[in-house]
Amino acid sequence: MGSSRELMAASVDLFLGGACVGCRRPGPALCLCCSSSLDRLPSEARPSPAPPGLPVVFAVAEYDAVVKAALVAHKEEARLSLARPLGRTLALSVFGVLSRSRSRSAAGSPGVVTLVPAPSTRRTVRERGHDPLLRITRECGRALRKSGVAAVVDPVLRVDRPVVDQAGLTAVERAANLAGAFAARPRRRLDGRCVVVVDDICTTGATAAEAARATAAAGGNVLGVAVIAATTRRRPPA
Ligand SMILES: [Zn+2]
Repeated sequence: MGSSRELMAASVDLFLGGACVGCRRPGPALCLCCSSSLDRLPSEARPSPAPPGLPVVFAVAEYDAVVKAALVAHKEEARLSLARPLGRTLALSVFGVLSRSRSRSAAGSPGVVTLVPAPSTRRTVRERGHDPLLRITRECGRALRKSGVAAVVDPVLRVDRPVVDQAGLTAVERAANLAGAFAARPRRRLDGRCVVVVDDICTTGATAAEAARATAAAGGNVLGVAVIAATTRRRPPA
């Protein structure tokens, strides 16, 4: 809570008879109690086995009932007021990536950080009527800038060839389905820019690895991947 826009979103939810997606109590789309699932320290998440080329991945939340409900309600039911808390959670993960990359490099702060969302197919965006990850990423960028991190959002990647729905595929099948599937949009480059690839969930890491590969192919310096939740067991920070 805090900003007037957020209060407005909460009031609209209340006025329309909304309920918390986590506990179904009447009120804002995510009550204070349930939002504590989204407000934790980021830690490294590594699927096992990790696909080749997967950079460091940070997640904040376990993919528990509240997180799943919030992501699904935002994505499928267009509960758009959830973008802000989800974006703030994603920003915590980006902090995790940035502090890891600072501790590993003598270069210090990367300056401006470019957030590159993993792409969705145009068909998916059309069917949903909105681009949930891009909306969350924009809120994430806003949260980072408020905290003094120079962050820009650049949805530079697109799905460049037909892929099948990842649901139901094994880790190996997912990696094969996505190998070489993403690319920068025509005439777009990321030369020399420090990039954090962002996504909502990391399961097998196939999407994150492919997005990182395509980002590097476009000239970006990939610092790591930040996600809201990981289905893998998380490791404590080293
Ligand atoms: Zn709740």
